[in-house]
Amino acid sequence: MSAFPSVTEDCDSVAKRFKKSRFGKVLRVPGARGAGTGYPHAKLVEFFTQERVNAIVNCNCNSCPGSNPSLDRPFKDDLVSKIRNKDNSYVSVLAFLLLHSECRFITSFIDKGYSDRELASHHILKEYELNELLELETDCNNADYITFFQFFIPVLWYKDRHNAQPRTIHELQVLPFHTIRKIGGGGYSNVFEAIMLERYHDFEEVKVCPWHQSNEGI
Ligand SMILES: [Zn+2]
Repeated sequence: MSAFPSVTEDCDSVAKRFKKSRFGKVLRVPGARGAGTGYPHAKLVEFFTQERVNAIVNCNCNSCPGSNPSLDRPFKDDLVSKIRNKDNSYVSVLAFLLLHSECRFITSFIDKGYSDRELASHHILKEYELNELLELETDCNNADYITFFQFFIPVLWYKDRHNAQPRTIHELQVLPFHTIRKIGGGGYSNVFEAIMLERYHDFEEVKVCPWHQSNEGI
């Protein structure tokens, strides 16, 4: 018996379900630069069940991997496992590609090792790199690039703070904060009260003075 159930959906029906699910989280950001909606990774993992990923991988439309005749069955099964790999998944990549009807390029991301974790934390994809991956003209104005970062919310680990490498965050990257209000500001910076998304930080381990202790905001 195959580990994979028979396919009853195609990419189109999965995409419709995805859009209907509306689990994109609107994160208010100061200055409102870039995209304000973020798709928390845990929600994407929940949505992209083995059945749904299997449906996309085996879909025969022009924008899906199934349209490539050289991809045989073991390869497709392997692709489903790689996309849903618990430790190094590609579900955020798949969500982005699905919304742009470009699922066939999932293999290009996997070949380069551009996984969800890698794109959220280490490799900030440049616009020309995304164009290359999607086989677009390098000089065309790519509106896709603006929405790309909604899927790769950076994780902020306090225990990494001593890393020699400074952390780079792209100006379009959606941060795991929901801004409530501006508390104050000066010549160099502004201070905001904000709620952080769960699982995107480890600040609960940080010892703070008791009168500053709060489970919600920083
Ligand atoms: Zn398809």
